[in-house]
Amino acid sequence: MTGHVTIRNLSRSFGTFAALRDVSLEIPAGELVALLGPSGSGKTTLLRIIAGLDLPDAGQVLINGEDRIARHPRERGVGFVFQHYALFRHMTVGENIAFGLRVRPRGERPTRAEIRSRVATLLDLVQLGWLIDRYPSELSGGQRQRVALARALAIEPRLLLLDEPFGALDTKVRKELGAWLRDLHHGTAITSLLVTHDQEEALELADRIVLMAQGKVEQVGTPAELYTRPATPFVLEFLGEANRLPCRLGEGGAAILAGTGDVLAHGLEPDHPLARSGADVTLYVRPHDLLLEPEHEGPVVITRVRMAGAFAKVEALMQGISLTALMPFHRLGASGLREGEHARLRVLHGTAFAAEGVEHPAALRFEARGVTVPA
Ligand code: ATP
Repeated sequence: MTGHVTIRNLSRSFGTFAALRDVSLEIPAGELVALLGPSGSGKTTLLRIIAGLDLPDAGQVLINGEDRIARHPRERGVGFVFQHYALFRHMTVGENIAFGLRVRPRGERPTRAEIRSRVATLLDLVQLGWLIDRYPSELSGGQRQRVALARALAIEPRLLLLDEPFGALDTKVRKELGAWLRDLHHGTAITSLLVTHDQEEALELADRIVLMAQGKVEQVGTPAELYTRPATPFVLEFLGEANRLPCRLGEGGAAILAGTGDVLAHGLEPDHPLARSGADVTLYVRPHDLLLEPEHEGPVVITRVRMAGAFAKVEALMQGISLTALMPFHRLGASGLREGEHARLRVLHGTAFAAEGVEHPAALRFEARGVTVPA
């Protein structure tokens, strides 16, 4: 059975420090949900409370509608895989996976044959059948985490909690295991909660992302929702690099670069209260949404061009503002962009938020209509 988790008004302080502040959340059954956020934002604290390893000062954790706070961790039907939650060193792979079943009270314990068959099935699932008799010290880091996952699944949890399970592994293995976990998750219909501070991992793997900051939930949504409709500048910047262009709003919803008459973009909703006020906004533009093209007297000066894998990263300055643009590396040669040369710029897409100090909570989003500066 899978678990639907409801978290209601959860708070937890350590001394005077509030690690969780009135967090409420729904985690639908069967989803793979990433808890994403910077270090210290409260992700692990939340996971530990759901697991029953820590108690909140206030609030409730309901699994399938039932309050679980008072229950012993073992009775919550929760499996864990933590980065540093080591396997038992003196037990083989098979014994490690069987452990959770062997320690069950007599009435609930499966027979030896049943345990053996369950272990074999789980080892097949994590594709490590051939390692059943090895000891943890004889495995690679990635294999160890897969065994840890099989061990967590052995008790048939309704909820699987993963705290940076691949944090200690190199990028390639981390990516492989991530993709593998996603497939595994979809095959088992378990509800999984994955703590990570890696936005790429969350965007790639999760059905839904819970983005946390300073003990609070900043935004909840699918990866596409968070990426394309960030609720706050924090969400936008946490999910990937962005250029920040200080602008003033002009006639008809134009974004005009501060201190110039240059219109960078059209399309801001003209009826938006901010647009009418001629307010200061920050226009956020992702590096791949910023086009630079050589132009003799252009306002942009290219300061650095370098290769970043499949992309060329072009760094530049305009009116003292640092800019970064990304383009497929194979296009760099034909683009004519070189260090020290001038260029014009075009914003393909951007999101505007009220500049700091301007009272307005709403985001202004628009698809820019290909404005080139200078026109
Ligand atoms: P990371 O990605 O670094 O693991 P996190 O988002 O998981 O961060 P938590 O581990 O939940 O963050 O910690 C949130 C805050 O609570 C941190 O500032 C941390 O120092 C504090 N904290 C956590 N556990 C304790 C504790 N047992 N005693 C005192 N402070 C704690």
